[in-house]
Amino acid sequence: MPIFLYNTLTRRKEEFVPLKHPEVGLYTCGPTVYNFQHVGNYRTYVFEDLLKRSLTLAGFAVRHVMNITDVGHLTSQADEGEDKMEVGAAREGKSAWDIARFYTDAFLEDCKALNLRPPDVLCRATDHIPEQVGLIAKLEAKGLVYRTSDGLYYDTAKFPGYARLMGSEHVKGIEEGARVEANREKRAPTDFAVWKFSPKDKKRHMEWDSPWGTGFPGWHIECSAMAMKFLGETFDIHCGGVDHIPIHHTNEIAQAEGATGKPFVRWWMHAEFLLMNSAKMAKSAGGFVTVADLKAKGFDPLDYRYHCLTAHYRKQLDFTWESLEGAKTSRRRLKEASLELLKEPAKPCCAELERAFKASLEDDLNAPAALASVWDCLRSALPSGSKRSFLERAETVLALGLFKEETTALSPEAQRLLSERAKARSERDFALSDKLRAELDALGILVEDTKQGQKWRKR
Ligand code: AMP
Ligand code: ZN
Repeated sequence: MPIFLYNTLTRRKEEFVPLKHPEVGLYTCGPTVYNFQHVGNYRTYVFEDLLKRSLTLAGFAVRHVMNITDVGHLTSQADEGEDKMEVGAAREGKSAWDIARFYTDAFLEDCKALNLRPPDVLCRATDHIPEQVGLIAKLEAKGLVYRTSDGLYYDTAKFPGYARLMGSEHVKGIEEGARVEANREKRAPTDFAVWKFSPKDKKRHMEWDSPWGTGFPGWHIECSAMAMKFLGETFDIHCGGVDHIPIHHTNEIAQAEGATGKPFVRWWMHAEFLLMNSAKMAKSAGGFVTVADLKAKGFDPLDYRYHCLTAHYRKQLDFTWESLEGAKTSRRRLKEASLELLKEPAKPCCAELERAFKASLEDDLNAPAALASVWDCLRSALPSGSKRSFLERAETVLALGLFKEETTALSPEAQRLLSERAKARSERDFALSDKLRAELDALGILVEDTKQGQKWRKR
C-alpha cells in the first residue's frame, strides 16, 4: 500500500516514493549538546522514530543520519550572542569539549530509555570542519557569500526562492526581529553567517583555521555539509521541529542548493511543539522537564512515549503531569494485557486489524488511530493467540516496552515482605496482609490481589 506523508515544502500530503526504492535517506537534526534535552525536544525525536519504524513496516530500508551540534549554535537566531557550547562551558566551569561529551552521552542514554532506534550515522559538527569549509568555499566561488567584520555571510538575495520553505509571512517576522538585533553590516535581515571569526577579546575553546581567518562554522552549514556527505546531494526526507522551518532549514536549502544547483531534500517533515503552560517548552523559557525529571516522579520514559503517540505529530500537544499520569495508566494496562497474552501460543494475526493499523500509519503517521486499533484488538473477541500476534507486530512500531518483563529486581526487604504477605493471606490474616501492603507501598511497590495470587509492580 502506498504511504502518504505531509511535505512542508508543498504543504500537501503526498504519496511518498523514494529516489532509489526501497532505500530511504533520512536526515534528522540532532541536539545542541550544551544542556540536557527536554521532553519537548524528545517529542520531535519520538516522531522521527515513529517515521522510521513506520517506513520499515511499510517495507522500506531506512538509512538514518543524525547530527550532534557541538559548535556554532548561537544564543541569538540573528548570528549574534554567544555560542551555546561556550555558554555551557562557562556555566559549569568545564571546557566546551567536556560539555559536548557529557551532554551527548546524556542524550544517547535518554534515547535508549525512550526506545528510539539509533541512527545509522551519528555525526558531530566538530568532526566535519573540512566538509563545512569545503561547502563554504563552493558558495564563495559562486559569489553567494560576502565578508563582514565578524564573519562570512550568505547573500540570500542572490538565491532565488529563498523563502520557499517558510513562506513569505515568516520573512516579515525575521525583518521585524532584525530591528531589535541590528547587525548593520548584513545586506539583508535574512542573511546568515556561514563562518564566524573568533572574537578578539575572548578565548574560545573551539576554533579552527580557515581560508577566511580563524573561527568556527555557523550553525546551519553543518547540517547541509553532513547530510550531503552521508546521503548525497539530493535525498529523500529531512525532519526537525517546526521551529526549524523559518531559519535553520530554510538556510540549509539555500546553502546546499546554492552550491550544487540540485534539489536538496524531497520531503521536509516537521513535528509540532510540545507546550507547557500554553507556550512552547524551551530551555530559555525555564520550567522545562527532562527525562530524569520523569524518572524522579516515578514515570517510565515510555509513559511519555505513549503520551506523544496519543496526538498526531502535526498537532500541538500539551504537557501536564495529569495527562502523563493518564498515559502511564493506559500503558500499564496495555503492558499487563500483553504479558498475559505472551502465555498463549501465537496464532495467525487478524488481517483486518493489521490492515487498519498499517493504514493509519501510512496516512501521514496517524499514531492515535494506530493506538486505537490496539485497544480495539484487546476488546475484540479474537482468540488470544491472534491478539498476541497483532500486538507483537504493533509493538515493532509503537515500541512501548509492552512485552518487557519488569527487570528491576526487588530488594531483599521487599521480597521478605511479599512472601510474608503471601503467607498471611493464605492464613486469612487480612489485618496483617493489609499492614504488609502499606509497608510495601512505602517502598514504592504496589500490590494487587488476583485469582492467580498477589501481583506487584513498581510505582
Ligand atoms: P535543539 O537542541 O534546540 O537544536 O532542538 C532539538 C530538536 O527539538 C529540534 O528538532 C527542535 O525543533 C525540537 N524542539 C525544540 N523545542 C521543541 C518543543 N517544545 N516541541 C517539539 N520539538 C521541539
Ligand atoms: Zn539541522
